[in-house]
Amino acid sequence: MKIKNAEILCVGTELLLGEVVNTNVAYLGRALARLGISVYHTSVVGDNQARLYEAVTTALKNADLLILSGGLGPTYDDLTKETVAEVLGLPLVRDVAILCEIEEYFASSNRKMPPNNAKQADIPLGAIALKNRTGTAPGIFVEHNGKVVVLLPGPPFELCPMFDEFVFPRLREMSDKILVSHNIHVMGMGESEVEMHLLDLMKNSANPSLAPYAKEGEMRLRVGALADSEEEGEKMCREMIERVKASPVGEYIYALDAEYIEKLVVEKLKEKKLTLSVAESCTGGYLGKRITDISGASNVFSGGFITYSSKAKIDLLGVNPETLEKHTAVSGEVAIEMAIGARERLGTDIAVSVTGEAGPNPDPATKQEVGTVFIGVSTKEQSYSVKLTISRQRDREYIRKVAASSALREILKLMK
Ligand code: ATP
Ligand code: MG
Repeated sequence: MKIKNAEILCVGTELLLGEVVNTNVAYLGRALARLGISVYHTSVVGDNQARLYEAVTTALKNADLLILSGGLGPTYDDLTKETVAEVLGLPLVRDVAILCEIEEYFASSNRKMPPNNAKQADIPLGAIALKNRTGTAPGIFVEHNGKVVVLLPGPPFELCPMFDEFVFPRLREMSDKILVSHNIHVMGMGESEVEMHLLDLMKNSANPSLAPYAKEGEMRLRVGALADSEEEGEKMCREMIERVKASPVGEYIYALDAEYIEKLVVEKLKEKKLTLSVAESCTGGYLGKRITDISGASNVFSGGFITYSSKAKIDLLGVNPETLEKHTAVSGEVAIEMAIGARERLGTDIAVSVTGEAGPNPDPATKQEVGTVFIGVSTKEQSYSVKLTISRQRDREYIRKVAASSALREILKLMK
């Protein structure tokens, strides 16, 4: 059979009480999206047989596939399997092979299996039991009367590997569509401005879809195409990506399907055989930290200076005291001298600097508003600065993150 749409039903009173965050639904939702199976509805029900019975019955009226999580354990409140078997009208039969596996699981940790664990070896007639490599309760995959029902254990460290190994491949065979998706990374243009330029495209495109996700100082535009084949999906995505590139947002795109901008920076520097150093004031080492988060950064990153005071800027980077006096520490002029200082002292091809007002209280000496940041860039050929105006409603941490990301973006721009 072919599966078009699915519902996810998570079982557990602890989820309703907010004691446990429902990460399983997010995990399953993402996986089903990748499979091109539409999820129109998800729900949570407590450990209550009557309500569970009703929820399963309703879900099976609407969906081809129902995935349940939780309630497969050995205790009295674990009712999922019994209830699903009842709704489907299938008897439970004890699977001897599974019973042996559970006994072995206990034996391997020198414990004797409590008698109530035996019920975990009961499987609805005709169902496939899914091996649990990280716990005792097997999962269940059952196809019955044109519906597929999958039962998975609640603990995420059991559910996730079981789903990946046994359920995902089966569902891929059964899905009649495939979802191809790509991320367009945008930096330097505000969220609302991006939306303004792309609103028509977003609203009028259901497939391929275009959806925005804002992240600190950057935006991701997710393009998703539901198609009959990978090639068709790729083609649909490509067309959408081209339309975004042709819009005013185009010039702010810095990457397609990038993990982290710092990773991209390190890769590009390696590719171009260029070296980098940094000089930081308001980011206090955060830029250097992000670059060195990437393994292999040592091939391209020489080091940096944390020059927070004017004295440090003068002594360590050779910033001219007169420039500081005339323009203050938060200025394009000082940013440029910082970058030149770092580049010359460490002998790198490129240096970037960051100086700004991270707040929350503005420094009267700089006469700059909170959120004003200057990035200095220096190479052998040129030195210049870029001014950022980050919303001053944002907190110190946000401003510093955006400042560091923008500095990384400036490095990328040099290596087009
Ligand atoms: P067990 O054999 O451990 O009882 P089970 O299949 O019966 O497994 P539950 O009793 O429903 O699962 O849940 C066990 C634990 O798994 C919960 O206490 C919770 O920590 C975690 N869990 C359950 N459901 C979810 C969920 N939807 N998202 C995240 N964690 C969950
Ligand atoms: Mg349980």
